[in-house]
Amino acid sequence: MSCGHSPDTANPREETAMHDHRRLGRELDLFDTDPLIGAGLPYWLPDGATVRHALEEYIRAAERRAGYRHVYSPVLGKRELYEISGHWSHYSDDMFPPMDLGGEQVVLRPSLCPHHAVIFRSRAHSYRDLPLRMAELGAMYRSELSGVLGGLTRVRAIQLNDAHIFCTLDQVAEEARAALGMIADAYRALGITAARHRLSLPGPGGKYVAAPEMWRRSVALLTRVLDDSGLPYEAVEGEAAFYGPKIDVQVVDPAGRESTLSTVQVDFHQPERFDLDYMGADGAKHRPVMIHRSIIGSVERAVAHLIEAHGGAFPAWLAPVQLVALPISANELPTAQALVARCADLGLRAEIAEPERGTLGARIREARLVPYQAVIGAKEAVNDHIALRLRDGRRLDPQPAGDILTRIRALVAAHDTALWDHDGEAA
Ligand SMILES: [Zn+2]
Repeated sequence: MSCGHSPDTANPREETAMHDHRRLGRELDLFDTDPLIGAGLPYWLPDGATVRHALEEYIRAAERRAGYRHVYSPVLGKRELYEISGHWSHYSDDMFPPMDLGGEQVVLRPSLCPHHAVIFRSRAHSYRDLPLRMAELGAMYRSELSGVLGGLTRVRAIQLNDAHIFCTLDQVAEEARAALGMIADAYRALGITAARHRLSLPGPGGKYVAAPEMWRRSVALLTRVLDDSGLPYEAVEGEAAFYGPKIDVQVVDPAGRESTLSTVQVDFHQPERFDLDYMGADGAKHRPVMIHRSIIGSVERAVAHLIEAHGGAFPAWLAPVQLVALPISANELPTAQALVARCADLGLRAEIAEPERGTLGARIREARLVPYQAVIGAKEAVNDHIALRLRDGRRLDPQPAGDILTRIRALVAAHDTALWDHDGEAA
């Protein structure tokens, strides 16, 4: 399996779980598929694209804060690139067949690692550049059989939250620890929990590169990181990447189906294959170690998990619509329109549920997944107040609209999962 996105073993509950996020995805207009585009090739509708964009921006900002630099690399590469990386001999069952192009063969990439290794190699590096953290939210492809495709969990085109850290052997433990910290922070913001941490080791069979000493060293490093972290974990054979062991963060969907979302991997193999080096303090060339890490794994699987974990009621910072303005009558429509415009100025996503769409009760039910429901009656319109209802049913006393928007914007900017406060009391 490849960096950050491992296939799962199907179990009897798979159908139920996949049906769940597929059903919600369609009902909530998040994503869909069309036989004309093809199986395993979902497209994102505007509301789904909004969730995805918010998620991707969160990841990019977190990576920038943690010292990562972002790159872009193409989704195709020459067959030779994957022969060097080892994908061709260890992973070709999961790759699309090569395309003949003017006498050479190119393939849709099965992972981003080889491109990043080549980018590292393209410039001279000294020990002062390390750890060099290279990140990309990039596309990769897997030739899944059509029988197992569905929704966002088994797809043929994958957007991977990927990064490779090129570092010295001494820096590996700290970098892996920091990546686990980023994963924990992201799970807090996303309102999801890790079911367990897994130390994924090689198993019997020929899909792993044969280098016993390399495996011994990399397993020892990751074991130390997990032991020091205090996190409970279990070691499982047969789940490693072909080039090295992994720490996998497992999540479980409401149907009890487990999958890997996040991963931290140590790799001595690809730096060797691509002949990567840096100039040490001693003036001699040294080989860097490569850490592969993904905070949320593939965007597709992460959003599938978020849909199922929250039943479509996303944390406010991720919600496609964060605030719905509910004018009691047509008289309050201009005030509601002005409120939506103020939200847009503040970077909040808001829309109006007009009175002609039904009674206030019916409109509130329709907007039940929207975190903030701003009711505007005649009195509120005159005073520039809002009677705010929260998605969880709490109702706040009418307050100045400006105060409410400031509060919502602060919660959204902090990626807070609390709708209003932390003690469950309406302010
Ligand atoms: Zn990788």
